[in-house]
Amino acid sequence: MTSNIMDRDTVSQRNALLADGSSVRNIEVKREDYLDWCDYFMSIAFLAAKRSKDPCTQVGACIVNDDKKIVGVGYNGMPLGCSDDEFPWGKKDRFGLNNKYLYVCHAEMNAILNKNSSDVRNCTIYVALFPCNECAKIITQSGIKEVVYMSDKNAHKVETIASKRMFDAAGIKYRQHKPKSKQIVIDFDEIEWSQERTPVKSKKNLL
Ligand SMILES: [Zn+2]
Repeated sequence: MTSNIMDRDTVSQRNALLADGSSVRNIEVKREDYLDWCDYFMSIAFLAAKRSKDPCTQVGACIVNDDKKIVGVGYNGMPLGCSDDEFPWGKKDRFGLNNKYLYVCHAEMNAILNKNSSDVRNCTIYVALFPCNECAKIITQSGIKEVVYMSDKNAHKVETIASKRMFDAAGIKYRQHKPKSKQIVIDFDEIEWSQERTPVKSKKNLL
């Protein structure tokens, strides 16, 4: 896994660049280019979202307890037994049966239902999008105490306003996540790195 979360100064302090563009990694000091907790949990939510077949918005959610343990992950998808190929992914049929809104389970609901602990009371849920009112109901009923979201692009919609009304009434905190890095790159070849020299291409990823 490669993450381009170091700034240039940190890179230059840790890695001496060689003439061929590769670099020597100082393996005697603590690594600084690691994910902090919030970026990590939000990244898990975004990674889970990649599983979604929704043609418009892939959304993921990650639930974390007070010990910083992940207890549930989910993404938006069709209910169990409802084929991804048979149920509709479109939304043009606003008042008919051929509309995804009637069927798709949102990421927050799935993450709560997928929990691997007895409950999610006092947990924090990391979500890409501010939860809709239906998910807000479930979040509130589940005992989750905090919502960390990435985008609030639907803030003007009544669903989102209703969500915030419920969260405010129930004392559930919500805050927008400000990532330390704009982008995190996963490179499956990174595992092949040498202790002495980092691959040339990793230099590109770190800039
Ligand atoms: Zn929802």
